[in-house]
Amino acid sequence: MAVSNLTMVSVIEARSAERATATGGCRERGCTALESAKCAYVDGRGRSCQTAWCHRHLHKIGEEAYCRRHAGTVAALAGRAKDPRALPAVDHRGASLVNWIWMEGHTVLQEGVACRLRPGEVIFEDRTVNVVRQSDGTRRWERGWRIGDRGGLTSKVLICVDECNDSLILLVVDDNVAAVAVPPWITRRQTNRAVTPALDARDRSQFYGFLCGHIRTALALRA
Ligand SMILES: [Zn+2]
Ligand SMILES: [Zn+2]
Repeated sequence: MAVSNLTMVSVIEARSAERATATGGCRERGCTALESAKCAYVDGRGRSCQTAWCHRHLHKIGEEAYCRRHAGTVAALAGRAKDPRALPAVDHRGASLVNWIWMEGHTVLQEGVACRLRPGEVIFEDRTVNVVRQSDGTRRWERGWRIGDRGGLTSKVLICVDECNDSLILLVVDDNVAAVAVPPWITRRQTNRAVTPALDARDRSQFYGFLCGHIRTALALRA
């Protein structure tokens, strides 16, 4: 195989650049291991996640390995993650945050929905996070509960994050925003405030209680 000197040089440079990256440390706080790979996430505009992690702190999904947030994003969207139009920007936590709240708050929130069912109504759970395009062209990531009876769908309760603000949770009941809130752990990160695990648990429980209260009120007011 003929290889020009120029190619040789660039191959050697690329190798030493690889080595240089590989000597960096894992991004995980407190982890002293060397990084083993970069997160594989590439958003719809082709921007990739630049964080690198050790073997233990990479999250494998299928053939690819991701940082924690992007593993959350890809898992939340499931099959939709193959569609670039569904993927949030690399620095946007929309899909993973919606899914996190759905999972962590599931018992409390579903109870709020279930206690307001009318006779003959049943609940259908969204199996993944959906992405919807709004009238102004921006995207919204959502996951929730659809309520229906023999005649079809009667109501929906959705946990949403909009493209314009990935800290804000919107609780949408039948196309109306019933409540908005910033999760307590995000507020604390923004203000750099640490709390004890007990206080964290209390804040989370209050947060889900707040959302549940609004689900119950909104469903009780249905026509
Ligand atoms: Zn690590
Ligand atoms: Zn990432």
